[in-house]
Amino acid sequence: MKGEVILRVEGLWKYFGDVIALRNINLEVLKGELLVLLGPSGSGKSTLLRIIAGLEKPTKGKVYMDSEDITDLPPYKRDTSMVFQSLALFPNMTVYDNVAYGLKIRGVPKDEIDKRVDEILDLVKIRELKNRRVTKLSGGQRQRVAIARSLILNPSILLLDEPLGALDLKLRKELHVELKRLHEEVGNTWIFVTHDQEEALTLADRIGIMNNGRLEQVGDKWDLYEKPATRFVAEFIGETNLIDGKVVEVGDKYIVVDWMGEKIYAPVLENIDRGMNVSISIRPENISVSFRPKSVGEGVNIYEGEVVDELFKGSYVIYYVKIRNGQVIRATVLSKDADFDVGNKVYIYWRFDKGVTIID
Ligand code: ADP
Ligand code: MG
Repeated sequence: MKGEVILRVEGLWKYFGDVIALRNINLEVLKGELLVLLGPSGSGKSTLLRIIAGLEKPTKGKVYMDSEDITDLPPYKRDTSMVFQSLALFPNMTVYDNVAYGLKIRGVPKDEIDKRVDEILDLVKIRELKNRRVTKLSGGQRQRVAIARSLILNPSILLLDEPLGALDLKLRKELHVELKRLHEEVGNTWIFVTHDQEEALTLADRIGIMNNGRLEQVGDKWDLYEKPATRFVAEFIGETNLIDGKVVEVGDKYIVVDWMGEKIYAPVLENIDRGMNVSISIRPENISVSFRPKSVGEGVNIYEGEVVDELFKGSYVIYYVKIRNGQVIRATVLSKDADFDVGNKVYIYWRFDKGVTIID
């Protein structure tokens, strides 16, 4: 059933000598979901995936699958299968032989293998390439062979480590659509690793953001965008203005923060106190720009400033507005309303609840 936890990782640490690759990872993966682990190179994504596959042992912590402790099980006894970035296909063998390999070594009878290979090749839409050597295939076709080879084992969890990393952008975008369809058709659980935020946003049901060995936040992609829990998450997904300041007042709905001499209102959080340092993330699309000051309601931030730069993006324009405390804020305006020029005096404003208060 969807919504059940199929895999649980608890208090996972991994050291390689002095290098700490994973720091106290806790994660629940839901049955049937496509979870994307997103993070920069070196953040620990592959290490986490390899521990889930059993290819690496954690220094500390546990891995549970369907509530069973599998931390010490070897890879072949786990109900997982991995697609590597390098693909690791057998170059001198045909598509058929590559895809059939896992079933052959498990002693599955030949006619059963033939039937399953045909089914899987239909699913990834390369049946007509069945007898071709993999060296004679394009990058995208090889990709499909690698996925078919893993899927034929019918794993409960498919682990994919940057499987599209070597392909060009156009091909990757095509394969995103294909992969989503494939995931829905097969219906098993996928954990997909990437460093590409666009790929993550296209593919994922939920995203886990990794940074420096930590899993910083896991959630629905909209939640991550609208309610980033850390500065890193706020900056890694989409564009944002990160404003740093000190809390000078705590109200019922909002706090007042001193931002280099300007006052700024932001949503109140539990455990927030006067004197604390906080960051406020405000997305450029949530900031309005106008020539005249707006009549301000309660909790509205409004600043006078000057347009110091503009960036035309087609359907919208990014304005860089320098305010009195010397800080430059980015605001986006739809091109049809983009009446401002560099040097113009303008006002920028947003209600406190468009911002997100971050303590980290
Ligand atoms: P990612 O997949 O996010 O790029 P990795 O999980 O590959 O990150 O690596 C995380 C950290 O662990 C990096 O600092 C990397 O250099 C280190 N690391 C990974 N594998 C090994 C290894 N076998 N030996 C030593 N260090 C490793
Ligand atoms: Mg990696």
